[in-house]
Amino acid sequence: MSIVSKPLALIDEQLNRMTMYRVVLFGLLTLTAASFILSLSGMLGFTSISLLALLGLLGIICTPLNYALSKLFKVPFMMEPTAITILILYMILPPVTSVTEGLVAILAGGIAIASKYLITARGRHIFNPAAFGLAAVVIAGLSSSMWWVGSMYMLPFTALVGLLVLRKTRRFSIFATFAMVSLTILLITGIADGRSPSDIIRLAIVSGPLLFAGAIMLTEPATMPANHRYRLIFAALVGVVYAGHFSIGPVSSTPEVALLIGNLFALAVTPANRLTLRLIKKHRMSHNVYDYEFQEISGKPLAFKAGQYAEITLPLAKSDSRGNRRTFTIASAPSEKQVHFGVRFHQPSSRFKIAFHDLEPGAIVHANHINGDFVLPADSTKKLAFIAGGIGITPFRAHLMDLLDRGEKRDIVLLYIASTSEDISYKDVLDRARNELKIKVVPIVSNGNKTRLDTARITAELPDYHERVFYVSGSNAMVDNTTELLTSTGVKRHHIRTDHFSGY
Ligand SMILES: Cc1cc2nc3c(=O)[nH]c(=O)nc-3n(C[C@H](O)[C@H](O)[C@H](O)COP(=O)(O)OP(=O)(O)OC[C@H]3O[C@@H](n4cnc5c(N)ncnc54)[C@H](O)[C@@H]3O)c2cc1C
Repeated sequence: MSIVSKPLALIDEQLNRMTMYRVVLFGLLTLTAASFILSLSGMLGFTSISLLALLGLLGIICTPLNYALSKLFKVPFMMEPTAITILILYMILPPVTSVTEGLVAILAGGIAIASKYLITARGRHIFNPAAFGLAAVVIAGLSSSMWWVGSMYMLPFTALVGLLVLRKTRRFSIFATFAMVSLTILLITGIADGRSPSDIIRLAIVSGPLLFAGAIMLTEPATMPANHRYRLIFAALVGVVYAGHFSIGPVSSTPEVALLIGNLFALAVTPANRLTLRLIKKHRMSHNVYDYEFQEISGKPLAFKAGQYAEITLPLAKSDSRGNRRTFTIASAPSEKQVHFGVRFHQPSSRFKIAFHDLEPGAIVHANHINGDFVLPADSTKKLAFIAGGIGITPFRAHLMDLLDRGEKRDIVLLYIASTSEDISYKDVLDRARNELKIKVVPIVSNGNKTRLDTARITAELPDYHERVFYVSGSNAMVDNTTELLTSTGVKRHHIRTDHFSGY
């Protein structure tokens, strides 16, 4: 175990207690608290009154407006995203020192919230709401693109919050692509202007919003592409505009404009869906796992690839610290009439899980943000190894059903780690895959023992492991440990695909 593994495991444990939205929300609240302390000590350059006025006005306009629009558009009202939009706007709009600035803040907040409902395509908002609200007032000449959060004294707090958000979302590669592209362009143009490289980097990181925009805003799931390759292009594109020095009429290459251009790219490459699903039936597969079978109420087939996931929202009367949204892998193949989700339950359960457990046939849930890269290689001759940890079997059910439905045979070995043989889910699909596709299924049942999978077992079950592409799915800890085990066994990192079920 490396020196950072233990603290990292502790951080992950805490992060796993919360949904991604909660991590972002608490992070933004931390930054807000820091801003007030810094302003009281005179380090921020703004009075606490001007910050309080900005925050108060945003709260007063955004919350009721979001509530009213959610009723008008008949979607569940959610305080969490509203609060996130308010707090981001607070970090990027100029603090309020006059009536005019107050009116501009109200306008920006109203436009940000309205954009979520009015500027939509295929069931989702197109633009990062806070970036849109700011861009609207800047382009109209009513405000400056201030981004005061990108100041030297805020940097340690922004860096900490940004790191936690990136750790939670596992989107370091997106942030790194954005940061590398923008810093490279800033360096090239800055050196050409006769500035020193250290000055350029210092200015970009210490006195600019690169960290905040890249770690917290760029990674917003609703407005980024679904697939990893496109996400990297999206991050690079935002980086190019962010660092570019251009103006077309009233539009300049400000950070908010960079994000909005990225959002347009995401729209162009992402098939987005807002689904309304009716529960058809549920059945218990093991002592703590249930399979849920839903149907889209429009009856239309869903556009997704086997191995992808969706985000489900439940209108909870009262939620807990984990909120009312969860990501679940779509456990069915695109060809299946019904959409399956395999869900594991715990004691004590979150409020979301209690409500999900109590769903009865006929119940309606909303799902969106179909996403994910845990898809099979296009080359069907590639040898594969699937490693599932417990509920991590769900994407493999989707893949096996997809192959069964298409009658496509691939060389696959599935290692299925479970606590007991009663915990093996989707036995019917595994049996069919064994018989019809000649797939080797190896249950690895621990029965209370600690060591479940080791190098000896991998080499015994998969003597040709160096020829295989590995797909590993399960809890964060299971995926991280298995990845470490595979690389120490000699599997190349680029031959390992992972699906982290963060939240367990
Ligand atoms: C890409 C992806 C795919 C996923 N696919 C699936 C899938 O197919 N099936 C699936 O079941 N999950 C899946 N997940 C995980 C899922 O999104 C949830 O994070 C997970 O089910 C945990 O749910 P929960 O937060 O409701 O907690 P629970 O399942 O209720 O509990 C998990 C643990 O947290 C504890 N706990 C519960 N509530 C709280 C609280 N308020 N405060 C502190 N501790 C608490 C519980 O006691 C338990 O130990 C996936 C996640 C991702 C990111």
